[in-house]
Amino acid sequence: MPEIRGYATHAAGAELLAYRYEVGELGADEVQVRISHCGICRSDLHLIDNDWQVSKFPFVPGHEIVGTVEAVGKAVQKLQPGERVGVGWQSGSCGNCTWCRSGKENLCPDSQPTCVHRNGGFADAVRVPARFIIPIPEALESENAAPLLCAGITVYTPLRTYGVSPASRVAIVGVGGLGHLALQFARVFGAEVTAFSTSPAKEEEARAMGAHHFCNSRESKGMKALGGSLDLIISTVNADQDWSAFLTTLRPEGVLCLVGAPSRPLQIPGSLLIQAARTVSGSNTGSPLALAEMLDVAARHKVKAQTERFPMGRVNEAVAKVRKGAVRYRAVLAN
Ligand SMILES: [Zn+2]
Ligand SMILES: [Zn+2]
Repeated sequence: MPEIRGYATHAAGAELLAYRYEVGELGADEVQVRISHCGICRSDLHLIDNDWQVSKFPFVPGHEIVGTVEAVGKAVQKLQPGERVGVGWQSGSCGNCTWCRSGKENLCPDSQPTCVHRNGGFADAVRVPARFIIPIPEALESENAAPLLCAGITVYTPLRTYGVSPASRVAIVGVGGLGHLALQFARVFGAEVTAFSTSPAKEEEARAMGAHHFCNSRESKGMKALGGSLDLIISTVNADQDWSAFLTTLRPEGVLCLVGAPSRPLQIPGSLLIQAARTVSGSNTGSPLALAEMLDVAARHKVKAQTERFPMGRVNEAVAKVRKGAVRYRAVLAN
C-alpha cells in the first residue's frame, strides 16, 4: 500500500506528531498532489483545537496547498503529472445544487473542506478531486501563492461580489494575514483604500501595501472624519469591535462584510441599518473558477503574500508563532 507522511494532532489542542497513513488506489476523479508548500491559516488552529466540534483525530491540518501533480485518476483530463497546482479550503461539493450549478461551489450546503474528515496539507502529499485543483500561474512563487488559496480568495470575493471599481471607497479592518492581501487587492481594483487598525505601528506597511489612508479605529476623531464616506468595509479581524462606529462610516447602501468571525454576537442598532439602507453581510472563500481568476489577477498585478517560511518538520514552532499573532503576515510550511 502506498502511504502519505504528514503531521497530525491526536487530541484537541495537542502538538502535531509525525503521522503516516495508507492510501489505496487513486479514485477515478482524484489527483494526487506532491506538496511543496502549505500555508497555515487561523482555521487550521480552530480545527486543531476542535473549536467547531467537527475535527476527527488524528487530524492532519492544511488547506493552502501548492505542489505538483503526481498522479491522476482514470477519468481526469487536462491535468498532467508535473503540473504546478494549488488546493484551497474546499475539496468537494454536491455538484447538483443551485450553487454548484451556478459556479458558486463554495456556497454548496454539502461543501467539503480540504482538511475536515479528510487529511490535509501538512504532509508530503494530498489527494483531491480534480474539480478542486487550481492551476498556479507561472509568475507566482509557490511560497507566496499558498496563502492566496484561502486568505487571498477570502478577501478577493467580497471585492467582486460588491462590484468594487475606481469609483469605490473601500476600507479594510485589520492589517494581518487577510488584511495585508485585502489592501493590495482593493488597490488593484482601483478603489480609494483605507486601512483600519488599532496598531499605529502598522501604518507604514499598510500604506506600502496599498492603503491611501490609515485610521486608528480606537480614535473617534478619525472615525468621525470618515462619517458616511465608505462603500464597503471588509472586516478581517476576530476581535470584537465597535460595530456602530464602523457602520456610521458607511455611505447610504454601504456594506460591512465580515470575513473574520468575532467571538461575540454583533450589537447593532437597527436604526443605523435602516436610515441609510446599510447592509451587514458575510463572505466565505470562493469557487474554483474564482480562485483561478484571483490567482491570475495576483500574478498580473503583483499582489504578493508576505510570508515567513518554516520547514515542514518545524510545524509546531510555526503553529505556535501563528497562535501568538507574531507572523508577518502568513506562515508557510515547506517540504
Ligand atoms: Zn483558511
Ligand atoms: Zn452543491
